[in-house]
Amino acid sequence: MAVEANERVWPRIVVVGSLNLDLVMQVEAFPKEGETLFGSGLSEVAGGKGANQAAAVGKLGTAVSLIGKVGRDASGDKLIHSLQQAGVDTCALLPSDQPTGRALITVNASGHNYIVVIPGANADLTPFDIDEQRQVIEHCEMVVLQLEIPIETVAYTLRLAKRLGKTTILNPAPAPAHQLSSELLQLVDFLIPNEHELQSLTGFQAVADPASLEVAAQSLLELGAQAVLVTLGEKGCCYLDRQQVKTYPARKVEAVDTTAAGDSFIAGFAVSYLQQRDLDAAVAYAQQVAAITVTRHGAQSSLPTREEVEAFG
Ligand code: ATP
Repeated sequence: MAVEANERVWPRIVVVGSLNLDLVMQVEAFPKEGETLFGSGLSEVAGGKGANQAAAVGKLGTAVSLIGKVGRDASGDKLIHSLQQAGVDTCALLPSDQPTGRALITVNASGHNYIVVIPGANADLTPFDIDEQRQVIEHCEMVVLQLEIPIETVAYTLRLAKRLGKTTILNPAPAPAHQLSSELLQLVDFLIPNEHELQSLTGFQAVADPASLEVAAQSLLELGAQAVLVTLGEKGCCYLDRQQVKTYPARKVEAVDTTAAGDSFIAGFAVSYLQQRDLDAAVAYAQQVAAITVTRHGAQSSLPTREEVEAFG
């Protein structure tokens, strides 16, 4: 059957989230209050959890759209260009009268960072905008969200996605100041926090040992989440649903920069789960993708292609 030249290719995965242009500074050590220090490097790179996760999916070769907002400025243009380079459909990106989101990231000699985000256009993404892009969501199979856009937009999108029968993933990052409502958690098929986010979501003080981590994650299942997958950095991850608890060790690699580890993990999980609907295979693929990401510097620049993941094995 001939395909019309202007027929739209609908995405299998829709990411609804943030885009930021990151200003990254390298320093020996972080300045103390009132102190001025010299830095050793400055770069401007594409970031934002929504954009990073969409770019990671695009590089893995799965059709993906990002619904988000950027300002009518040069930063917005740069971000759109970089997403297109990664294979992301940018037709659902909307212009805002607010400036494009920015992040100021200071990285010290041991790779630790301090990050300040100015949401700008990201804070302007409303439920009305989601309705405008409803067609994209109708045509996809899976919707992926984070918490760098207004919470009412996250909740609205999850409700719409579930009404339309889509699989939903929520990465509750950055760690929310308040616990998420049971109504919202019930709309989530896979809740994927890191340890710090798990702590914020549950109010549990310590989740470092496996037993307390399990108790904390169980409390999210009791509130309504269908499944919780906690990422644990170099320790791997832990999966819980109402039937089972499973732990998975991380791949052994020489990590040089863990930026975007979580974003690439989520993208890998989404891509594989969509293809096989197999938990173990999806976690294995996610950990492969994330392991490659941590062996490289940068955020979007460190994300691997499908071929690189296949070669890594
Ligand atoms: P970030 O905020 O830096 O993007 P995160 O805190 O959201 O990351 P992590 O829990 O640190 O996410 O890591 C996500 C996944 O990345 C882990 O589950 C693991 O598979 C992989 N990973 C992270 N660090 C390492 C490491 N040092 N070696 C191997 N794999 C790693």
